[in-house]
Amino acid sequence: LENQYRQSQKMEAVGQLAGGVAHDFNNLLTAINGYAELLAQDPTLSAGARAFVSEIHGAGMRAAHLTRQLLAFGRRQVLEPRVVDLNEVVVEVTGMLERLIGEDLLLATALAPDLCPVKADAGQIHQVLMNLVVNARDAMPTGGRLEISSRTVEVSPADAREVPDAVPGVFAELAVSDTGCGMTPEVREHIFEPFFTTKEVGKGTGLGLATVFGVVAAHGGHIRVESAPGRGTVFRIYLPRATEPAPAPADFAAARVRPQG
Ligand code: ADP
Repeated sequence: LENQYRQSQKMEAVGQLAGGVAHDFNNLLTAINGYAELLAQDPTLSAGARAFVSEIHGAGMRAAHLTRQLLAFGRRQVLEPRVVDLNEVVVEVTGMLERLIGEDLLLATALAPDLCPVKADAGQIHQVLMNLVVNARDAMPTGGRLEISSRTVEVSPADAREVPDAVPGVFAELAVSDTGCGMTPEVREHIFEPFFTTKEVGKGTGLGLATVFGVVAAHGGHIRVESAPGRGTVFRIYLPRATEPAPAPADFAAARVRPQG
């Protein structure tokens, strides 16, 4: 818990810093990228100069991507929690996740039919799933198996006493597993830190899991990670059961067409 607290403090500080710097940076990058594009159209440029301009533009675009991520990370995203069935949240985003991972990897889902409802912001859970799935994809450059599964987990007070940091209660678990490269214990220790990445420059920002951590913490949930080098990784997200039941999908539709006021 002490660790989680320190992590949250760090996230807060980095978030504020990032938001401020990223905004100004974005404006500068718009100028750099814009002029690089104009220059690339100059017919008097030699082939050599054209190659340099293309490098400038490529780096500028990567920097713009990084600042966009920083802005999203720094922005205090307001939670809009509703009682939801996480299975539905997964189904909503499956098409997009499949496009993210490309055609070479298969995405399997194993969703428990009786999953307990949780209070969550569906948009933020989409973001969590996207970040975890992109990492799983990157961990399996030569293929493998990616699975999203759900189940209800009950932690009794006795169980909670046996596991460090465990909290008793009923939780909906979302697990994202891959059969990829896995992590060493040294890497595993730092993955939730902002800017920690083992990916090559331009590919990783080190903000994906820091964002996941922030979203799950804001939902009153927790994360467990199991990983073995060369075998794969499982990220398990636990969100506490909502006290009210999730509305049936039919009720959602009815609520939308019902006139306001
Ligand atoms: P990024 O993806 O930009 O590197 P993240 O915060 O999402 O940032 O991840 C941090 C690091 O955690 C990654 O660089 C990688 O070393 C490790 N990691 C995350 N997910 C996995 C995974 N599924 N398998 C192996 N390593 C992972």
